[in-house]
Amino acid sequence: MSWKDHLIKIAPYVAGEQPDKKDFVKLNANENPYPPSPLVTKAIRDFDAEDLKRYPSADAVPLMKAIADDLGTDSSRIFTGNGSDDVLALCFRAFFNSDKPVIFPDITYSFYPVWCRMYGIPFKTVPVDEDFNINAADYARENGGVVIANPNAPTSIGRDLDFMRQILEENPDSVVISDEAYVDFGGHTALPLLGEYENLIVVRTFSKSRSMAGSRIGFAVGGDALISALRAAKDSYNSYPLDSVAIKAGCASLADKAYFEQTVEKVIATRTRLTQKLREMGFVLPDSSTNFVFAHHDKYRAEDIYKYLVSKDIYVRYFRSPERISDHLRITVGTDEQTDLLINTLESYIK
Ligand code: PMP
Repeated sequence: MSWKDHLIKIAPYVAGEQPDKKDFVKLNANENPYPPSPLVTKAIRDFDAEDLKRYPSADAVPLMKAIADDLGTDSSRIFTGNGSDDVLALCFRAFFNSDKPVIFPDITYSFYPVWCRMYGIPFKTVPVDEDFNINAADYARENGGVVIANPNAPTSIGRDLDFMRQILEENPDSVVISDEAYVDFGGHTALPLLGEYENLIVVRTFSKSRSMAGSRIGFAVGGDALISALRAAKDSYNSYPLDSVAIKAGCASLADKAYFEQTVEKVIATRTRLTQKLREMGFVLPDSSTNFVFAHHDKYRAEDIYKYLVSKDIYVRYFRSPERISDHLRITVGTDEQTDLLINTLESYIK
């Protein structure tokens, strides 16, 4: 046996392309088209580089407190990490140690199966229905954990609080993760259920609604047992995940509620216009509760549209698999100008 036989064999998660060029329209990674709050710019500009000689606060305490204040909860209920990907990866490691399979929808965030394989966690996918809806009744089955992205990606569909309550009622013996990366764009958060269900954890990010994907700030909200398990998992792996600049920048973002609300409103208004225009062109798409839409056209193949858009320097997300979504495009809501360009380009393709 060679040492090569002992290397990890895993198909990693594949993120949207980051083309190495300027002057293209990037609608493929659900980033926010607007910059972060001016208070974030100021916090970074005023950052004293000398502070970098020290390790950051291990639990990002100032940010933990600012998040807790923003949500009207106690900072002991907040756990922060390097983007919600880091927080979710730690959730999988910390919570899913049963022999029973963790369950999540067949069409959802494609990182979930990767973490399961990475950690050797058994998993089973539960099919969404023909309209891509997740139905809570399908989660009344034996499992070692439940993961629901709400709103879901890449389908853009959000479910209400009763849906999450039903999932929790059916699963008192499992940890239920509510991945709320897109919730600020019109979804329904499970936060009000935290007081009733100790097995619920809510995971959020600054990457989307706070325009801070580059800062890698994610967090979880939950009760003592789950937050303690997360802290133990983190401190067994990487004690200082958030850097000093990110902690300051994150606090500055939370201090500007008005900017946050305006940005989200702008994205939602553009989403409404984009949805309508796409439907007029014959695209079929569900109402989105996120900062992207998930569209299909009966007459034109998604892959062909995707390639045409790339030739015009517009990048949207096309998934070759799973098969069920291989004729769909996931299109991030950009600025009004980017959206006009996208619409005009699609119109010239379809005509
Ligand atoms: N959850 C979902 C459903 C996502 O789409 C993403 C973005 N790729 C994430 C979590 C992770 O985002 P981040 O690590 O930037 O917080």
